[in-house]
Amino acid sequence: MLSKNNEMMNRDLEVIWHPCTQMKDHETLPIIPIKSGKGVYLYDFEGNSYIDAVSSWWVNLFGHSNTFINEKIKAQLEKLEHVLLAGFTHEPAIELAHKLVNITPEGLAKVFYVDNGSSAVEAALKMSYHFHLNNGKKKPVFLSLTNSYHGETIGALSVGDVALYKETYEPLLIANKQVPVPVDQTQEAAEAALSILEKVLHDQADEIAALILEPLVQGAGNMHMYHPAYLIGARELTRKYGVHLITDEIMTGFGRTGKMFACDHAGISPDFMTLSKGLTGGYLPLSVVMTTDEVYSAFYCDYNEYKAFLHSHSYTGNPLACTAALATLELFEKDDVLGNNEKKSRYILERAEKIAELSNVKEIRQQGMITAIELQGYSAEDRIGISVYKYALTRGVLLRPLGHVVYFMPPYTISYEEIDKMVDVAWEGIAKVNKES
Ligand SMILES: *Cc1c(COP(=O)(O)O)cnc(C)c1O
Repeated sequence: MLSKNNEMMNRDLEVIWHPCTQMKDHETLPIIPIKSGKGVYLYDFEGNSYIDAVSSWWVNLFGHSNTFINEKIKAQLEKLEHVLLAGFTHEPAIELAHKLVNITPEGLAKVFYVDNGSSAVEAALKMSYHFHLNNGKKKPVFLSLTNSYHGETIGALSVGDVALYKETYEPLLIANKQVPVPVDQTQEAAEAALSILEKVLHDQADEIAALILEPLVQGAGNMHMYHPAYLIGARELTRKYGVHLITDEIMTGFGRTGKMFACDHAGISPDFMTLSKGLTGGYLPLSVVMTTDEVYSAFYCDYNEYKAFLHSHSYTGNPLACTAALATLELFEKDDVLGNNEKKSRYILERAEKIAELSNVKEIRQQGMITAIELQGYSAEDRIGISVYKYALTRGVLLRPLGHVVYFMPPYTISYEEIDKMVDVAWEGIAKVNKES
């Protein structure tokens, strides 16, 4: 007889095509059916538990099935599940927009609701292009950083630079150009990259609508990190050359980098900020594009001037999702989340020191509640991350390395004991592949 997990897996594989997956891998690699979640733990159908060390693709902030968020959503569910946001509005969308305006950098004054990260990036790109057009300028090119990731719809993919996702679709993409991301976390690297940015803007600002970047940490780009000086410089240069700055805080937002927003480390305010992932605490798909009164005003006129931003999604500003987001922000207000995270980050780094001693570890880097361990001596074909992933699962930890980078990005509610377990298991997994190689 098949085990309950295997039974579920087989039923899954009959009909589901999974994201970011070569499905043939699952001839040998089991799919894990999850029955329930609580706190940092996920439970399968046979009662095995897994510490969710990647916050279910970077979305979860306060644990699975969080009682406080659950109650808020249940209460909202009894009132209103959804209504269109054109011509109509509702309380959760209004309250959330006010809160977001209050907590994001000065100058971001308007909230455009979307329903997932990639779509927020699409909306920001379109808004930027359209803003310039409304001001009589045609600027069809977008600038982004090497090694960047902004999502996988066509526009978002165009401004990304991860070959694995982008290369195949190259003929379909919109006009884009990349400037180098700072090579490491030093200020010198930031300054070197800024001098190239300055040159490109100097030569081509006429055709460039916006520079889009992931502030401080490039998530899907193997958790590459750089110095906030780059953000300060990029803000000055984009302003000087009449190019928008779009900060994609879909991953970095809501405390992940140690401050509420990564932009806060540099004290900058962008023309557009995209937010999603942690926005709803990891509960429901929702995203926003935040922008300035200046941008908003460029679209504000009589209907027959045809300058309106006619972009929409069916589930824009869903009330349940907005409620989850409001509950999530309330949790930030109730506790010193960022202060506690600072202590936890420091502890994770201390505990990870023994991992740095392994000969197949190149470096460990950290930015707030993101800690990345870069392995060395492997080629892409080794798929070394999968070996670590498989080992960690046998020990009850969900790590999902990006290529040869193992990382910790746990829910903020992780306890010190759970951190010990997470780090120990990563150490064991990395030591194991070191011995085998
Ligand atoms: C995840 C991510 C996106 C895309 O969001 P989706 O909701 O997965 O479409 C965009 N930008 C960054 C920085 C991300 O991490």
